[in-house]
Amino acid sequence: MGTTAIVGGGVIGLLTAYELQRRGIDVTVIDKSDFGAACSAGNAGWITPSLAGPVPAPGLVATSLKWMMDRHSPLYIRPSSLPTLAPWLFQFWRHCNAREYHAGLIATARLAEPIMDLYDSLDEHGVDFEMHSTGLLYAVLEPDYLRHIADDLQVMRQFGYSEPVEMSGAELRDFEPELTDVVKAGLWVPEERHVRPETLTAGLVKWLKREGVKLESGVKVTGIRSTGGQVRAIETLDGALEVDQLLIAAGAWSGELAAMAGLNLPMQAGKGYNITVQQPKLTLHHAIYFSEVRIACSPFNDALRISGTMELSGVNTTFDPRRVEAIRHGANRCLGDWSRGASETTWVGMRPLLPDGLPAMGRAPGIDNCFLATGHSMLGITLGPSAALMMAELMTTGKTSIDISAFDPGRFSRPAVSEKAA
Ligand SMILES: Cc1cc2nc3c(=O)[nH]c(=O)nc-3n(C[C@H](O)[C@H](O)[C@H](O)COP(=O)(O)OP(=O)(O)OC[C@H]3O[C@@H](n4cnc5c(N)ncnc54)[C@H](O)[C@@H]3O)c2cc1C
Repeated sequence: MGTTAIVGGGVIGLLTAYELQRRGIDVTVIDKSDFGAACSAGNAGWITPSLAGPVPAPGLVATSLKWMMDRHSPLYIRPSSLPTLAPWLFQFWRHCNAREYHAGLIATARLAEPIMDLYDSLDEHGVDFEMHSTGLLYAVLEPDYLRHIADDLQVMRQFGYSEPVEMSGAELRDFEPELTDVVKAGLWVPEERHVRPETLTAGLVKWLKREGVKLESGVKVTGIRSTGGQVRAIETLDGALEVDQLLIAAGAWSGELAAMAGLNLPMQAGKGYNITVQQPKLTLHHAIYFSEVRIACSPFNDALRISGTMELSGVNTTFDPRRVEAIRHGANRCLGDWSRGASETTWVGMRPLLPDGLPAMGRAPGIDNCFLATGHSMLGITLGPSAALMMAELMTTGKTSIDISAFDPGRFSRPAVSEKAA
């Protein structure tokens, strides 16, 4: 008798372990590094369904070509990576159209619908973490830009969102006094929240340990053994582990893991960076999104985190200091003296990004007992608890209470060679 193995102890793997454990399933979570140490550590921590639109958006091809020429821009494609990235970029650009964007936004917003209740429920069930319910402030440098945001917020009305509060530059500075004069208008979406992501993963690890879930850190999965359309075991550097079910939740590395199971998952890393100031002198009262420059500000209990940029340079965590400077440049324009504090750290992490910008969630094509939950891109925190709930429902009952067919991992599939031969 094997276990249900989850490969990847980021926010997605840990939350799914939580949901499975609550259903009485024997779970083992395996991570090649420390739990919560990869992309789930240094993100902005936002729970913001109003930002649920997929990354490939109408107009992004033209904007990204323009941004490639600007060293301070939010998007960077490393020229030396272009030859390897070209087929993926071509697929990504094909998805930059209004029809797919709208369909993706609706599917993702539907998945996010129960999210605030699920976060409250984590708290009620004894997962200890830092959460702020002060909403999200969209701040723009050109008032016309609010139109883009308002369109998506209009869609969110069908998911229970109220009319956002529109503010002029002067009203914004009353609301959030540290904004500079370059900020001309804004919208406040009171429903949104943010967490300190490191506390969320730490709280989950503590809860899972307490409940007796097996947590194996520093163990790299190197192979997946399957026969007759079933995964039988996973191979690690420490030996093999027999499994009843397998969930691949390995973030930006999920493409590698999927390939071990004979699956095609065109995963890329959308690298992002942050600057975190400990005990900052500046006080912000809300999470703020500087929309044109795509910079996210997250005020935590004892820190201020400024994050942003999307770098496409392959699946690696090579740190490019110029990207941090781009964030610093954007933040200096929009915020008062934000960088003063006790100390400062910088960080790079890889958003798991598929070419259509949607997650891959569901049963692996052709392998009954293998599942994927990955590709949550900019939304792993926003969608995590709901994604985990759907995966636990699917893995225990074969059904989900929310339609996740838009995220079917089979949309990228080519049958494995051995399956074809059979
Ligand atoms: C700058 C930035 C800001 C962001 N802000 C937000 C935000 O505000 N809100 C939001 O919703 N999302 C945000 N995101 C996105 C969010 O961080 C990700 O979607 C999320 O963390 C992905 O979680 P994950 O569990 O899929 O992957 P990860 O956290 O990367 O975890 C994957 C794990 O798999 C393990 N692993 C990989 N390969 C193997 C192997 N072979 N064997 C064993 N283990 C393996 C890794 O060690 C890793 O721990 C942001 C991302 C960035 C970069």
